Amino acid sequence: MTQEFDIAVVGGGPGGLAAGLYAARGRRSTVLLEKGVTGGQIALTDIVENYPGIESINGFDLAQAMLKHAEIYGMQTHYVAVKGLERAGQKWLLRAEGEDYLAKAVIITSGADYIRLGVPGETELTGHGVSYCATCDAAFFRDVEVAVVGGGDAAVEEGLFTTRYASKVHLIHRRDQLRASAILQERAFANPKMDFTWNTVVTEITGKDEVTGARLRNVVSGEESVLDVKAVFIFIGQKPNSELLGGLVELDEGGHVPVNEWMEAGQPGLYAAGDIRANSARQVASSVGDGVTAAIAADHYISATFRE
Ligand code: NAP
Repeated sequence: MTQEFDIAVVGGGPGGLAAGLYAARGRRSTVLLEKGVTGGQIALTDIVENYPGIESINGFDLAQAMLKHAEIYGMQTHYVAVKGLERAGQKWLLRAEGEDYLAKAVIITSGADYIRLGVPGETELTGHGVSYCATCDAAFFRDVEVAVVGGGDAAVEEGLFTTRYASKVHLIHRRDQLRASAILQERAFANPKMDFTWNTVVTEITGKDEVTGARLRNVVSGEESVLDVKAVFIFIGQKPNSELLGGLVELDEGGHVPVNEWMEAGQPGLYAAGDIRANSARQVASSVGDGVTAAIAADHYISATFRE
């Protein structure tokens, strides 16, 4: 069976929920297609305290409030995994399990997954000291020692941000050289709160209800040690969920979707918003802004293209 909508939004994180709200409130028939739980990364976030106007809220609750808000204006939510996307005349055909969708415009907000270390304790303590976003969580760790894992721009930049709160930031890197840009390296080496542990990997994150430390192994000497830290921030790369767009648009080397300022993804009626797009600020608020921009652009596109 094929169902038809004006706008299909793929992915129910903050960007998708904001796009859905604007599209539906603009009186476009709108469907949000989500393969799991709405909310994306924030559904797994304990406390969000950097969404303007809301001092502090549980991430899951914020996502539920966004979902309800969009549904009040008529957005439909279908819990299906989209497996394929192709052009069908002037419209887009989305292939899902047991169901196809035709839409005049498609907004892809399927986000990105943080690459995980895959060590014991990491999953269990996520949200309780293990974090993939210092901008979101560093403020919870004032005047304590924390660890940052990785040697790229994200690790160094977020490590520097974390020094605003922590008494010491141990940057743990598997090699003896950072991959981060020279300017970030200079700032990091000049910061007295930054401490560097080279040639070292994390083998376990310890703690029961909250992080108490990280077990380390020096990959050159084989020596093992324990670092007493209250938080472990992991920045070893991101994997955008952009498989659906492979072959349709040219992705950047990291798999993100290049877009212009209207979130247009290089094909008529196709938009990408939030963490999946290149150069995203990777925040709830910025993803919401992206989603809104994409929905407004899609609305204008439909009016112009389908001569309403
Ligand atoms: P990245 O550049 O791919 O760096 C990932 C880091 O994690 C590398 O240092 C890598 O080590 C390390 N790593 C990878 N897998 C690991 C594992 N299993 N265990 C331990 N360490 C591991 O990723 P990113 O820092 O997230 O940056 C992604 C892109 O965004 C880059 O293009 C970056 O320039 C850009 N970005 C830019 C800015 C900025 O300009 N301000 C900020 C953030 C991100 P190796 O070095 O040994 O490979």
